[in-house]
Amino acid sequence: MAEVVPPSKRACERCGRMDVWDESQGKWVVAEADGREQTGTPHCLHEWDINGSYNPLRDDA
Ligand SMILES: [Zn+2]
Repeated sequence: MAEVVPPSKRACERCGRMDVWDESQGKWVVAEADGREQTGTPHCLHEWDINGSYNPLRDDA
């Protein structure tokens, strides 16, 4: 079965939380790995590794 490559993803540098961008829902959803949701630490102030210039709606210039 082919692996689906998410269009975009982000990970927290503090707790390991991982999200993937769900285009159909238009929002971030928790990623799964090994059948478990990678929710990280509930009270973490997530430090996403894509902070700053990241823009999921960027133009393809
Ligand atoms: Zn976090």
